Amino acid sequence: MRWGAVALTLVVAGCATPGVYAPPRMPPARLPGRPAGWDVVLDPGHGGQQFGARGRRGTAEKTVTLDIAKRLKRQLEQAGLRVMLTRTTDQTVTLAQRSDLGKRSGAWAFLSIHANAAKNRAASGFEVYYLPAYERFGRGVAYAGAPPATDRSYRLARLIQQEFRRDWPLRDRGIKQARFHVLRHTPIPAVLVETGFLTNARDESLLNDPAMREEIARRLANALLVFRRQGGRDQR
Ligand SMILES: [Zn+2]
Repeated sequence: MRWGAVALTLVVAGCATPGVYAPPRMPPARLPGRPAGWDVVLDPGHGGQQFGARGRRGTAEKTVTLDIAKRLKRQLEQAGLRVMLTRTTDQTVTLAQRSDLGKRSGAWAFLSIHANAAKNRAASGFEVYYLPAYERFGRGVAYAGAPPATDRSYRLARLIQQEFRRDWPLRDRGIKQARFHVLRHTPIPAVLVETGFLTNARDESLLNDPAMREEIARRLANALLVFRRQGGRDQR
């Protein structure tokens, strides 16, 4: 019976209508000494009907974000982490589905990956976005000025920024706050990274280079691994 069910599942999956979103199954098998669930959720921006930004040479944001996410997943898995992607193919995923996966994942970090666009073609560089806990959960009083260093999303954003400060060709545009849906509705440390501007010729050629996408993934992996060492996994 079991094998029959597995075979049926495979057949159904194989016949799935293109573009129909099939969320990943959760949680993965429980491993000895580790809590159930995932370590990290990676969210490749856009997909399917949602192209996102487009470069002058035709680079689609949804393609770049998925490729970086897959490279990052592989690198984190090599470090022993269990990594969920909110999409694994060119499929349409709603923002609510993305944050819901983050919510139910049991993970200690949610990272949404994007590439930017601007009317001004000179705009260039990478940005890291987060939303302070008081904004996300409506608890406490909003502080004036900088968020406390204890804000976990902010800490992860800082670690990512630091990774891209050394020997990186694109300008550091800083850490910013934005009420993006996936930051507002994912109740675990959540960060959104804009890896570069597809509307900028130099940024686009960098994002088109597989070696550079691998390097972006490597730096994001470093930041996540440092975040885990500093206690990210103990503070959901
Ligand atoms: Zn985007």
